[in-house]
Amino acid sequence: QLKPPRCAGCGIPLQSEDSMKPGFVPASSIDKEEAVCQRCFRIKNYNEVSSVTVDQDEFLKLLGGIASTDSLVVHIVDLFDFQGSLISGLQRFVGNNPILLVVNKIDLLPPVTNWNRLRNWVQKQAREEGLKVVDVVLCSARRNIGFDRVVEAVNTYRQNKDVYVVGATNVGKSTVINRLISDYSDLKRELTVSRYPGTTLDAVHIPLDDGKSIIDTPGIVYSWRMSEIVPRKDLAALLPDKPLKPLTYQLNEKQSLFFGGLARFDFVEGDRQSFTVNISGGLTVHRTKLERADELYEQHRGVMLSPPSTEDLDTFPTWTRHRLRIAPNSNQDIFISGLGWIQANGKQGATVDVHAPRGIRVLLRESIL
Ligand code: GDP
Repeated sequence: QLKPPRCAGCGIPLQSEDSMKPGFVPASSIDKEEAVCQRCFRIKNYNEVSSVTVDQDEFLKLLGGIASTDSLVVHIVDLFDFQGSLISGLQRFVGNNPILLVVNKIDLLPPVTNWNRLRNWVQKQAREEGLKVVDVVLCSARRNIGFDRVVEAVNTYRQNKDVYVVGATNVGKSTVINRLISDYSDLKRELTVSRYPGTTLDAVHIPLDDGKSIIDTPGIVYSWRMSEIVPRKDLAALLPDKPLKPLTYQLNEKQSLFFGGLARFDFVEGDRQSFTVNISGGLTVHRTKLERADELYEQHRGVMLSPPSTEDLDTFPTWTRHRLRIAPNSNQDIFISGLGWIQANGKQGATVDVHAPRGIRVLLRESIL
């Protein structure tokens, strides 16, 4: 049995099936002498990291290795998909190492947002998930907001230690790391890649002044996020890239909203009240009567109610129903992982149903705004 060739950079077994997985190389190069994986190629030639992903099991193996190091763990979460991208078991796996929580994509929230209140919200949500963090930093890697505070916090808390950067996919981990690289680029040092001991995962080492490194880990895939199950061509519509434009609907009970063909919201019972929808502008909201909703879906899914489009319907998971009860005066969001959230504005409470693809995380949370 022939062993697969390995990357000359990081030592990972090479493969040419999946460009998102570690060790990818185009088929034409896989048998070349000194072949390097696409990721190492980009790092060597462009000083830029790119995203690779692993499933939860592989990721936990990697996390287990961090516990035996003396390091700072920087956990990047996506503000738009907070409950979907938080690694809730992180504490157990990183041992006594401090965790710095970097909350990315704050550019998506309205400029009037009360940032102090938001920081408190983040701290509270993290605590409820059992995560103890030394600090919370809010930033937008893409718009370069708050980034000096990220660098400052990393410098404050690392104290001559290595820095491991962990996060789910699509939280902007590569964007953050590439910013860090350009911040440190006056060092004019070459980035190196190396294998993480005891695992098959490659990790990128970004050298720091004191001989320590920033270490990028693969992005973890959580199947409960809408962003993991939509066809790749629909990802751009799902992930907002401009500030959210909240849409407020005055609804009577027994009215429904469709979010493209990705999910449906039914106001089942309660006084007339408003609900504010926070989803990507790339998706269309359709409003209808609850009694007509099933029929509308049967007739229009894949076309008017899309994404997903007709050709992807067969492989897209069917919907399951989540019944949620919003308590009076509770100020809550109906959160649909990867899709966004609906703020319930009524004071009298409500009963609502969310129909979402099987496995997608749907929950009630304290309102983010
Ligand atoms: P990774 O998978 O965690 O490495 O994520 P990437 O860095 O590849 O980014 C995933 C997606 O999020 C891309 O479409 C980025 O353009 C986008 N993104 C990254 N940072 C930000 C940010 O600060 N704000 C917004 N709105 N989008 C971001």
